[in-house]
Amino acid sequence: MSLYFHLPFCERRCRFCGCHVVATKRREVADEYLSYLFAEIDLIASLLTHRRRVVQLHWGGGTPTYLSPEAMEQLFARISGPFRLDEGAELAVEVDPRVTTRAHLDLLARLGFNRLSLGVQDFDPKVQEAIGRGQTHEQTRELLTAARQIGFSEGINFDLVYGLPLQSVDSFRVALDKVVALGPDRLAVYSFAYVPWIRANQRKIDENELPTAEQKLELYFTAYEQLTNAGYEPIGMDHFSMPDDELAQATREGRLARNFMGYTVKPASAALAFGISAISDLASGYFQNVKKLSTYYRALDEGRLPIDRGYLLDRDDELRRYVITEIMCNFRVDKRRVEERFGVDFDDYFALSLKKLDELREAGFVEEPDGLLRVSSKGRLFVRNVAMAFDRYLDEKLKQRPMFSRTV
Ligand code: SF4
Repeated sequence: MSLYFHLPFCERRCRFCGCHVVATKRREVADEYLSYLFAEIDLIASLLTHRRRVVQLHWGGGTPTYLSPEAMEQLFARISGPFRLDEGAELAVEVDPRVTTRAHLDLLARLGFNRLSLGVQDFDPKVQEAIGRGQTHEQTRELLTAARQIGFSEGINFDLVYGLPLQSVDSFRVALDKVVALGPDRLAVYSFAYVPWIRANQRKIDENELPTAEQKLELYFTAYEQLTNAGYEPIGMDHFSMPDDELAQATREGRLARNFMGYTVKPASAALAFGISAISDLASGYFQNVKKLSTYYRALDEGRLPIDRGYLLDRDDELRRYVITEIMCNFRVDKRRVEERFGVDFDDYFALSLKKLDELREAGFVEEPDGLLRVSSKGRLFVRNVAMAFDRYLDEKLKQRPMFSRTV
């Protein structure tokens, strides 16, 4: 199994943030949340027939290190009851350099965490101010240095974001130089999803300060060029890693997988997610928890699973999920393998989707050599557009209202 714990607290809300966050300085709110998280773990444990083996544990947020080291230790102990963490399990946590202390890092190392993900976004102070974050280069450098001293020798990831207000190619270039000099093992370079109609905190961003679509593309190309020149290999849609990293090895062998936490080499048969808004993926369906603290607490007080909604996959969903995941992870689909696994004729079943790819095919972004559907290296930036051709729900949703951010 793979386990995800949503720890939603942050002292204040960054303007660009798209996560489900509870912004508060009242630490006791987190104590109460933790007691309910324990109740959810106990409830799920009572439904499991045996102690489950876990290959991946992820603490995300919010800011997991908003919790005190003592609280984190209690949470870890509670998880280790009904779940057996595999010896080689990937234990990952998102850390905010502004609030993570040496005591947090010591504890995480002692508990066996082996993946740290640092939110960086950009090192330019103007950009940091525009996104309401104010994180300095020194804070990131100090945390990284401390983590390495403690023994996090690999698996340190930086999250960068392009398309933020006041970002320019020149300023991003300087930031990328600093990133490369720090030498994280992995990088995620995300496109800023500007969706103020969904995220009220983004309304504080001055739209005039956002880069245009063309500038955004340039920002991405700048990152791509600088990181690959520095020896990083591109992974999936938006990640980079050093060539000896297991993500790069899995990419070369065409066995990269993806779940809600990002790219992984440890695909689990089920992903259980705990906490408000968390989404479980039980292979046959998705289940999302309620988003409000009060509703979450009420469900658990009544002894109910705090699930808000779910979706059971039919055969067509499973088939499309397989194809889309292959495109997003490995940039190719083996049509014959799909035909063997799902008992369909690929070209016939996906005739409409393949037609939608005409434009991308003509542009040289998609190729179809001998039984394969492949995204070409110059088409990689448009991999989302390729995947979208296989999404049967998208047309309906787009008709309703602008629900999605741009693909670049
Ligand atoms: S970006 Fe990170 S620190 Fe900022 S509000 Fe979102 S989760 Fe919290």
